[in-house]
Amino acid sequence: MGTPLRRIDCHQHAWELETLANVATNAAQIDCAAVNLVSCIDQKQANANPPAFVAKALFPEQVYVFAGLDHSAYFSEGRLETPSLAEQIDRLLALGADGIKMLENKPTARKMLDIPVDSPYFAEYFAHAEETGVPILWHVADPEEFWRPETTPVWARERGWGYNDTFVAKEQLYAEVENVLTRHPNLRIIFAHFYFLSADPDRAARLFDRFPGVHLDLAPGIELLYNLSRNPDASRRFFERYQDRILFGTDISSNQPATEAALRAGIVTRWLETSEEYRVPDGADFLLGPPEDGVMRGLALPADTLAAIYHDNFTRLAGPRPKTLNLPLAIAECERLAAEAAFLTGEPAESTLAAQAAERLRALA
Ligand SMILES: [Zn+2]
Repeated sequence: MGTPLRRIDCHQHAWELETLANVATNAAQIDCAAVNLVSCIDQKQANANPPAFVAKALFPEQVYVFAGLDHSAYFSEGRLETPSLAEQIDRLLALGADGIKMLENKPTARKMLDIPVDSPYFAEYFAHAEETGVPILWHVADPEEFWRPETTPVWARERGWGYNDTFVAKEQLYAEVENVLTRHPNLRIIFAHFYFLSADPDRAARLFDRFPGVHLDLAPGIELLYNLSRNPDASRRFFERYQDRILFGTDISSNQPATEAALRAGIVTRWLETSEEYRVPDGADFLLGPPEDGVMRGLALPADTLAAIYHDNFTRLAGPRPKTLNLPLAIAECERLAAEAAFLTGEPAESTLAAQAAERLRALA
């Protein structure tokens, strides 16, 4: 490659405060100008927003945050009162979040928060998301292999991601989501992990054609690289045709060392940029599975396609640079989440992750 590629990783995580320095070192290690920390919901501590806010305060030029929602009113069976989901969008945008992350339709999360996404509970929220144009990075479903014990990979099973019939079926998850997209065609969505449609690129193409606000990220989901490597020429044509709808992501977590981050990102960048044939390297993290699971065949995409996937699509959705964290509002939000976590866990408020994050933010104010 002649000129250096400008990359933004649209899909990373930070779960804790101790490892936040890795967010910057890992970004440098994988040649990313910026990363987007996406924050998952949680039954006991609402979401992982507090460490993501601290990361944004520490590395304001480099960290975007797609914040998680707070469903504590549901999880407390109404004993806690939270702002409405629509109001949460405004509060998160005001404090400097760059978008919203939804995990609500991963089968495990859908079981925990047992509410279809096309139900009245979410109605105002999606209407307001469409109105504000806030980008949403949304994890829906999982690979089809996870619904059959004989095909569920060991690394997935060990995470509790093997689904029997007590979990909502993959097609039902899609049906609920597509009802939302039909009602709100202007939603700006990045579906995580290629929306788990990599085994059926024609279906992904129909989704793109039907819903102009829909995008897909390439965060492994190692199966997406295997599936789309079966026919690299067809995949290359797909990526060139839909180059404005596909985003680079890795799913790196801040608790991963730089060596693992580099291997994880390298699997994706090598696939996009070269025509090499390769396997998951030794030393790659557990969630990528063993090398014997499959072969990747590189797509050798042209420079303009790479520029779109690596950078331009994300900045078009989330802005050319990360929004500035409003420290007083972020501190207040962390304190609000700390009180909820204390209520839901019985822990003293000051020992919650959210309270410790508020403390870190106060030190930076
Ligand atoms: Zn993720």
